[in-house]
Amino acid sequence: MKVSPDIQSLAPYIPGKPIEETRREFGIKEVYKLASNENPMGPSPLAVAAIQKSLPELNLYPDSNCFELRRASAQKFGLSENFFCFGNGSDELIDLLSRIFCSPGEIVLTSHCSFATYKLRARASRAEIIELPMTQKFSIDLTAIVEWLNYHPQRERARLVFLANPNNPTGTYLNHRQIENFLKEMKQFPDVIVVLDEAYDSFVRATDFPKSVELLKEYQNLVVLKTLSKVYGLAGLRLGLLMAHPTICDLINRMRLPFNVNSLAQVAAVAAFDDAEYMQKSQQLIWQGLDYFYQQLALMGLSFSESQANFVLFDTGTDAEHIYQELLKLGVILRPLSAYQLPQHLRMSVGLMHENRAAILALRKVLDLGSEIAPPDARKASKNLPELGAQL
Ligand SMILES: *Cc1c(COP(=O)(O)O)cnc(C)c1O
Repeated sequence: MKVSPDIQSLAPYIPGKPIEETRREFGIKEVYKLASNENPMGPSPLAVAAIQKSLPELNLYPDSNCFELRRASAQKFGLSENFFCFGNGSDELIDLLSRIFCSPGEIVLTSHCSFATYKLRARASRAEIIELPMTQKFSIDLTAIVEWLNYHPQRERARLVFLANPNNPTGTYLNHRQIENFLKEMKQFPDVIVVLDEAYDSFVRATDFPKSVELLKEYQNLVVLKTLSKVYGLAGLRLGLLMAHPTICDLINRMRLPFNVNSLAQVAAVAAFDDAEYMQKSQQLIWQGLDYFYQQLALMGLSFSESQANFVLFDTGTDAEHIYQELLKLGVILRPLSAYQLPQHLRMSVGLMHENRAAILALRKVLDLGSEIAPPDARKASKNLPELGAQL
């Protein structure tokens, strides 16, 4: 067997530890997984009903063009139908973008401490990945990206910029003005596509979050990604959505596999888009859980940054891998981030309220802080806490 060193050197994606595996390894029944930013409410009931209804047609190939889903998406986002492409999760769309826009040796730009898939798919496409440092406040540094494109000796080879907004795993975000100014600057670099990955946009509480659909009408090198895996609770079905100028969608359609989106995902997504009640409940649950986490982390004296997503990144103040292992023994799965050069940090997804409490209690136990619950003025305490990035 002869394998290219490009392939030999690829590292597999490390997902959050599965619940069953944790049960088996530690011999515990009650396991809480707050490691993969999944919707803790289960899938949308309307989506489940739509899936059940379409099961008798599983003998048929799915609609390669996603006709109904395309129509529903166009209506939902207010763009014409030829602005949409769909993928087997947004992971697949990220992969397709790398393969379409990068020849071997060309460059994908992104930020440190961002979604690992950008790097993994760039490498798999034999492109090079450049991860530029974040700002002091754990935010993506757009100025650093523009500077790189202006002055770096290899700037001519840049083809793609991936921006997760809100960012995973930091939970920070870039606002409308920042993104619009960046896109204006990027007009100088017509060979570079900007991808805004908005996997967590439905959890955003900030009022100045970018209106990316408006920006799509003006900037032809912009791509926006959404997913059904987070607020829509359909991570297991695999469906990602891409919005971009029809020229870009046309390229994706040439490159993708003909039946990349299965039929159940198509009907489930259409139903989930209509499930306003589920969406509202999910948001409320996440916001309530986040506020609880802020309060409790502050009480423990741990620093964190405010999150616009459904998870919070916090500094354990010690070796996070050790804390992670100790939490597993108590049946709580969080996400260690040593692969992101954050050896002291853990990412904790918001779960159901009893799961959140279990995670906090376990964390207190492992950090040897006793099991005391919040005094009533804890909310105030969280406001005075230093921001996460301040310690860098
Ligand atoms: C979870 C996540 C996705 C979603 O991936 P899917 O393949 O659609 O499940 C995309 N981008 C980011 C930043 C994420 O955190």
